[in-house]
Formats: sequence, structure tokens, C-alpha cells
Amino acid sequence: MSGIFDTRIEYLKGVGPQKGELLNKELKIFTYGEMLQHYPFRYEDRTKFFKVRELSDELETVQVIARIKKIELIGMGGKKRLVAHVFDDTGEMEMTWFKGIQWVQRKILAGAAYIFLGKPAQYGRKWSMAHPEMEPVTAANETRNNFQPVYSTTEKLRAKFLDSRGISKILEQLVPQVYSQIPETLSPEILQQYQLIGKPESIRQIHFPTDPNLLNRARKRLKFEEFFYLQLRLLMLKVTRTEKSRGQVLGSTELLTDFYKNHIPFELTNAQKRVVREAFTDMKSGKQMNRLIQGDVGSGKTMVAFICILIAISSGAQTCLMAPTEILANQHYAGLKEYADMMGLKIALLTGSVKKSARRIIHEELLNGELKILIGTHALLEDVVQFQNLGLAIVDEQHRFGVAQRAKLWAKNEEYIPHVLVMTATPIPRTLAMTLYGDLDVSVIDELPAGRKPIQTVHRYDKDRLKVFGFIREEIKKGRQVYIVYPLIEESETLDLKNLMDGYESIARAFPQYPLSIVHGGMKSDAKDYEMQRFVKGETKIMVATTVIEVGVNVPNASVMIIENAERFGLSQLHQLRGRVGRGAEQSYCVLMSKYELSKDSRIRLDTMVRTNDGFEIADVDLRLRGPGDLMGTQQSGITDLLIADLSKDAPILTLARDAAQQLLANDPELTLPDNSPILRQIRQQKKTAVNWSRIS
Ligand code: ADP
Ligand code: MG
Repeated sequence: MSGIFDTRIEYLKGVGPQKGELLNKELKIFTYGEMLQHYPFRYEDRTKFFKVRELSDELETVQVIARIKKIELIGMGGKKRLVAHVFDDTGEMEMTWFKGIQWVQRKILAGAAYIFLGKPAQYGRKWSMAHPEMEPVTAANETRNNFQPVYSTTEKLRAKFLDSRGISKILEQLVPQVYSQIPETLSPEILQQYQLIGKPESIRQIHFPTDPNLLNRARKRLKFEEFFYLQLRLLMLKVTRTEKSRGQVLGSTELLTDFYKNHIPFELTNAQKRVVREAFTDMKSGKQMNRLIQGDVGSGKTMVAFICILIAISSGAQTCLMAPTEILANQHYAGLKEYADMMGLKIALLTGSVKKSARRIIHEELLNGELKILIGTHALLEDVVQFQNLGLAIVDEQHRFGVAQRAKLWAKNEEYIPHVLVMTATPIPRTLAMTLYGDLDVSVIDELPAGRKPIQTVHRYDKDRLKVFGFIREEIKKGRQVYIVYPLIEESETLDLKNLMDGYESIARAFPQYPLSIVHGGMKSDAKDYEMQRFVKGETKIMVATTVIEVGVNVPNASVMIIENAERFGLSQLHQLRGRVGRGAEQSYCVLMSKYELSKDSRIRLDTMVRTNDGFEIADVDLRLRGPGDLMGTQQSGITDLLIADLSKDAPILTLARDAAQQLLANDPELTLPDNSPILRQIRQQKKTAVNWSRIS
């Protein structure tokens, strides 16, 4: 927004220098335009009464009319709470008070009906409100009408009467004054196709809602616009890049045919086949591939990687695979070497611990083209590592590598930028992937190889430990192996380590007949390897470890994963750990051990793990719990610049906006059509004021 929208906020009637300066400092609002975009973060809806069955997590403060069935005091001392069990004609819920219990007890009557006002929250299946406001139902209080925007503000602003109401007053001054000049920022076609209301009307509704339906449409329109421009910029970036960088044509399938005919140990899943096709289409296209492959643990990414490697080598190129840790690089090397040997292809491992003499040979064979597949860690990025013709670079576990490192890989071939495959086992909700990796094409392996038995997951409390030990004993008797994992968090390292050692001792006492392995981050790398190997060979039955085993470790005979202090782990970490079992033909189990008292979020995490094995569903819950700001990589993505749209809640709108942006670029790549001029203008405007957009490229 420009012109009048650049006017400094202190010039607005009723603001003035003092309040203006405070708005600058406290809310980063400098101009009329920024004030207009200080959207309410919620509304207090005093017009509607919700039924218990209509409650949802999306809702902020709501009103429910319900009758008291029973009132009870639960707990003792500081943990005492008052619970009123209430109901309406659609269901039951609970009202809870932790403070001021006596006062509430005096006010509330079993059998009476009240209007409760509060934020609904769900525990298990049951809805509840903590510390709701309440008043008895009367004929009068059902007809009131106020629908209030709530603005974020600060203590200092409040002290100058700029509380939520005060900010609303500023907008009452501003909006009518500029209304006729608010430009439309979307094209008529998009407005029509997605049934969006106009920009000026949206701005008016968002600040002064006249009815919930129109408000919803205003919010939808503004969210759509934010996502639309985010996606449009990402897509334009992608277009520029694919046009700029020619790709080596890797289209031969000679080796692949041989591999399929004579060596492949299993039939590919349909998902694997599809992803291979998608990558192959890119590699032979003459454009450079930038593709992200997402696949849950165990979905068979290694095989997909190997097939792409074969395609590249068939066409005379070399390949490399970079992993974030040495353990992982080793694992990949072991896995791929088996296949490479079948095919008579030379493969090597390059990590920090490879000796100088061996390195020299690797460097030589890379340059003369003899070495076809190089697996390694960051060591691959060193300048001395030069290929004759690097055609395909695979990066595993992308989120641990920075964009700068990806760029270093690109520079390894002067004629063509190598095709890049990024593989990640951390499922990211599709919506987030679209934004985080919006400049990459995304393939998803959404199917596990046939015959896998879903891992059974249970949640047990510390007091059940003896039973859990009994279960471990039975499984070992059946010939299985067991992981027992302890948290090791840097901040409490000493305590955690003690916890781990204590655990190890009690396990040793409980299972004197079985040899144990122990692995933790404090051990030297060869000691770790030695212990790991004993477990891999089946010499030890129980592996006591910290999360160092989180990624990559593959011991099919291990069928039980016990996670101690499970409440302290994040969801994606729990899921990764669980993925260490369920790799063989046997039924596998995951036992989440925790203390009895859990925070709400911890309980949701553990319940989610018990409910589902689906990494994407888990990632969705994770996103909802933590919000996108906390997830890896989001800081660089522009997500944090979103004013109204919310990635964790507005996925459907994001999808629409992405489609719209795609369609627009397909029809009018240069945005030259007159109808699209508002979009072109907005893109240019945003480029000028681009806060930090350049960071993404
Ligand atoms: P990821 O790296 O995706 O976690 P892996 O590539 O390590 O998974 O594969 C897990 C296991 O499944 C490996 O033992 C692999 O040999 C096996 N596997 C992969 N694809 C198939 C398939 N199509 N059919 C049967 N087993 C498969
Ligand atoms: Mg793997």
C-alpha cells in the first residue's frame, strides 16, 4: 500500500506524537498502512451461544449455556480443584476452577443453568473450560449484541489508554478516512473463482465485523491473499531457477533394466515406483531437478535413491549422497554397497575419520571417473573433493543442512548444476512443505512395503515398570532384542547421564542372564561402534542408549522399543525412535514410559503416539502443538511474516492459494494481462518494501 498509506500514524486525528511514538516502539506501527494491518487476533463473540457439541479447538472465548449436573472437589491442598459437570441437549462438559474455589462454591448451584464464557479445551474426549466467567441465564442476557475485536497491545500502550478498545478507536478514525483508496490486490478472475470478497470490504469487516459470516469471509480473503503472495514469490523463484539452470540429460535406463531383471531383492511398492518415475522425468528433462522426497521411516527411501543413482550412472554421470552424521553415512554406505556390489559399481565412503591415504585414492578415482558413488558427511563439501562429472547429488535429512551447503554441492559441476534429491524421514505436513520447500518439487512415499505389521504402542507409568520388565523378558525369550532409550538433553546433561547409568544398573540387575550394550554421546566413537556392532550381531539382547540411535540404525531383529521419560521427548523424535523397530517380520512394540502427572501437551503427544503410526498425522499434531515458528527452517521462509494466516490451521486456504498462484503463472507468466495488473503492482510494491524476502533465495 502506498500514497496515503505511507502517511505517518502520528498525523492521524486522535493519535499525535506521543501515542504515535509508542505505537512505533511497541507494535512497530509507523504508518496508516501498518495500522490497517494490525488485525484483531480474536473476537469476543457475545452474540452466539455454542452447544457443547459445536465446540472446537479453533474457538477462542465462547459462551455455552449449560445446566449443572454435579459439583465436586477433586484433589488436596495446592492441587485442589473444583469441577462442575454440566450439560446441554447435545452433550456434557466440565467447568474447572483452581483458584477462588470457595467463592465459586457459594455462587454456583447444582441443577441451575448458567451462561459460561471461556476458552474451550479438550482433554481426551471431554471438553472443559478453566475459570469461565459465569452468570445465571435470564431472558435478558440471551438478546445482547456485541461482537468485539480484540487487538494485541502492551502494558505501556495500555497505560496511555491504548488498550484493545483504544486501538479500535484509532481504527474507527482511520478506516472511513482511507476506505475509498484501499486498492484491490487480487485480480477479478481470482476474486470470482475463489469467491473472495474485495479488499476494502475485508479491511472494514476485519476491524468492524457486522456479522460472523461476513467476518469469516473477510478473514478468509486476507489469509488467502497472504498465502497467495507467499506462494507466488516461491513459484516465481522456482521458474527463474529452472530456466536459468540447464540440467544434464540423464535418460538412460540400461543399468536399471539389468538391476530390475537380475538383482532387485523385492518388488517396489507403488509409492516407490511413482516417486522413481517423478525423479526420472526430471532427470531426463534437460532441466535441473530439485526434488524433495518425503518418506516415513521404513518406507524404503534407500532403494529409491539407489535407482536414481543407477539412472545417473547409466548416462555417464557420477553420484554422491551426503548424510548429516557419521553413523548415518556409515549406514547408508553399508546399505548401498550391497546393491552397488551386485551391479559391479565402485562405491566409497568419505567421512572425517577416513585416513589420508584412502582419501587420496578417492580423490583420484573421482577425478578420473572410476568412482561412481560417493557416500559421506560434510567432508564431501570440501574443495579438494572434485568430480569428473557429478550428475546427481542426494542429500539425506535436509533439515540439518543449510541452504549454503546445498549451494556448495551445486558448485561441484561447472558445466551443469547437478540434479538434487533431498530426502527426509521427518514427515512435514504438506502445507508446511509447500512453504518451506516451495521452491522444490515434492514427492511423497506414502506407503510402507507390504507385510509390515504395524507397531503396537502403549503408554505405561513408572509404577508399571515390573510388568514392563516381565514383557521384555518374554520377548527376549522369543529371540528378540530390545532398545531402552533415555533422554539426554544438553541443559540437564549431568542429571540425565546419571539417570541413564542408574537405569542401566537396574536393568543389569533385572536381567543378569542377558548381556547388555550401552551407547551414549559421551563415549568415544570406536567404543560406540563396538557396542553397536555387538547388538547388531545379536550378541547383546538389550541396548540401553540415548537418542544417538534416533536415526538410521537398522536392526530388524530388535522388536521392542522402550522410551523412558517419554514425556520429555518431542513428537517427531518419539516417532523417529519408534521407527527403529518394526523393521522385521515380527510383531513389534513401543512402550512409552512416563511419570503419572503430565502436562496437557505431553499427554496429547503420548496419546497421539498410541493412536497412530502415521508420520504425517503425527507431524500435523506436532505442528498444531508447537506452531510453525518452532519448526526447523521456518525462520528463513517468510512464514514468520504472516500477519493473519496460520499454517497450522489454514491448510485448506493455503492449498487454494497455491493453486491460484500456479494457475496464474501458467496463464500469464509475466503478469502482462491488464486484469492481472493489480497483482503485478502488488508484487513490485512488496519487492520495494521487502522486509527480508531475499533471504529465501
Ligand atoms: P527408510 O530409509 O525410508 O527409513 P529403508 O530404505 O531403510 O527405509 O528401508 C527399510 C527396509 O525396508 C529395508 O530393510 C529395505 O530393504 C526394505 N524395503 C524397502 N523397500 C521395500 C519393498 N518395496 N519391499 C520390501 N522391503 C522393502
Ligand atoms: Mg534410511
